[in-house]
Amino acid sequence: MGSAVGDNPGPLTLDGTRTYRIGVGQAVLLDPGPDLPGQIERLRELVGRAAIEWVCLTHGHPDHAALARAACEAFGAPLAAAAEALARLGLDGRTLSDGDRLEIDGGAAWLDVVETPGHSPDSLSFFLRPVGWMFTGDTVLGEGSTLVAHPDGRMSSYLASLARLISLRPSRLLPGHGEPVEEAVPRLEAYRRHRLDRERQIRVALADGAASLQDIRERVYPDLPAGLESAAESSIRAHLAHLEEQGLPYGAPMEREEP
Ligand SMILES: [Zn+2]
Repeated sequence: MGSAVGDNPGPLTLDGTRTYRIGVGQAVLLDPGPDLPGQIERLRELVGRAAIEWVCLTHGHPDHAALARAACEAFGAPLAAAAEALARLGLDGRTLSDGDRLEIDGGAAWLDVVETPGHSPDSLSFFLRPVGWMFTGDTVLGEGSTLVAHPDGRMSSYLASLARLISLRPSRLLPGHGEPVEEAVPRLEAYRRHRLDRERQIRVALADGAASLQDIRERVYPDLPAGLESAAESSIRAHLAHLEEQGLPYGAPMEREEP
């Protein structure tokens, strides 16, 4: 396996998008990355002499998928992604669903597709067997927490996806942004705890009379770095939607703030 980091660092993308070449001879190229100068050359270097059998996507967000068509053309490989990702991108390809298997290096290894919606409805993880490495896209990042932003993101699906990943007991996580995570299951459990803690904080803020998204945000994220306000508010919206799904009325704040 090899990886390359795109030239798109930022608060949500960390050091940039990670593209992975999984396999040596007959390989999968996962998440070709952003459409930026130099990216296709970076991918050519990563691929080297491997034959790319599939260009796969963890989801259709542009920082992972914008170069999908160009990568398929460059390496003469078909695209494979969730149906919703293909539709979002307007590209043809193989539709991947939970339990689908992609062989690597003539069957010496294989990727099992795991549907992990939440960050986006089309999010997939790829479980490399037999080693047990999980490629998580944006479902789990190398550091910090990932963005589950209403309405593309859905908190109930996200929590279920984390539970599913924990149940598979991966030995290592390979995220779409940031360094590999060696303590895979503890990290997944920490992610789940973090979300539930956040939701508890939002419920406390509401009980204390927080009356707008901004008000909740200022109480729940007191030390938010500048520029992340709207990301934090869409994450709060996702939590509010989750509370509502559980039958816990949140009052009026979200309705007043809807554009
Ligand atoms: Zn994303």
